[in-house]
Amino acid sequence: MRIDLHTHSNRSDGTDSPAELVRNAAEVARLDVVALTDHDATTGWDEAQAEADRIGIRLVRGIEISTRYQGESVHLLGYEFDPEHPALVAELRRVLDGRDNRLPDVLRKLAEHGVDITLEDVAAQSGDAAASGRPHIADAMVAKGYIAHRDEAFNGWLNTGGRAYVDRYAAPLFATVELVKAAGGRAVVAHPWSRGSDRVLSADTFGRLQEAGLDGIEVDHHDHGAPARDQLRAIAADLDLVVTGSSDYHGTGKSSAFRLGAHLTAPDQLDRLLG
Ligand code: AMP
Ligand code: ZN
Ligand code: FE
Ligand code: FE
Repeated sequence: MRIDLHTHSNRSDGTDSPAELVRNAAEVARLDVVALTDHDATTGWDEAQAEADRIGIRLVRGIEISTRYQGESVHLLGYEFDPEHPALVAELRRVLDGRDNRLPDVLRKLAEHGVDITLEDVAAQSGDAAASGRPHIADAMVAKGYIAHRDEAFNGWLNTGGRAYVDRYAAPLFATVELVKAAGGRAVVAHPWSRGSDRVLSADTFGRLQEAGLDGIEVDHHDHGAPARDQLRAIAADLDLVVTGSSDYHGTGKSSAFRLGAHLTAPDQLDRLLG
């Protein structure tokens, strides 16, 4: 059984449509189970489910929520929750609006540095996405010839502290774990030790997150080296949390290190998570 529990479609910052993603999962990556986990949005679920039913692959309906804890960005995966739970919907709206609303400030800062990108340029890149995020701004910079690839925008322009960086709203981590659980879902911390969040996500913090309802830790992810994976696996074993592994696929928006099926979740862990 090949199980990948973290992927993005063009409803956030991936490049495959939800149906294309599901087809690629089955036919290219030979997955048996794939989760669609777009940033802060469930708008791809219906299309993905219809295609999954048509071709006979199991879809897990998910999301990756942008949260914050002690000033650090933490991504929270939610699975199989009620997508109409009012409080959760309201919180996701706040995150999406925060992303859209900072856009003019980002474009102003870019312009101050001679990079001329319009709201229309960004909209042309975000297309069907639920909001326009930094990757879409990066894509507009590529389209206008300022940089060669999306990743370059995160090297001095859009990364935290970059020339055109503007903060946005992120949901409070502990309350968001509780929200996902209140909506009937399962909660897993995504790539907990990438980009600064290793400073705030200690074993002690995982213990308190578990008390708030956390179900698992995404251990096997490209952003974690072998020592981090060993330590995270030990923390999960101590607390009896589920261990997942996933690709964080973004289509052509990320390198082939993030290809579908690059990292997998064990079948018994999926059973524990969703059973
Ligand atoms: P946003 O939610 O609009 O602030 O954009 C965050 C998204 O940008 C993340 O989910 C990643 O997909 C991408 N991203 C953030 N930091 C980096 C980075 N340093 N390199 C490449 N992509 C990044
Ligand atoms: Zn992303
Ligand atoms: Fe993430
Ligand atoms: Fe992701």
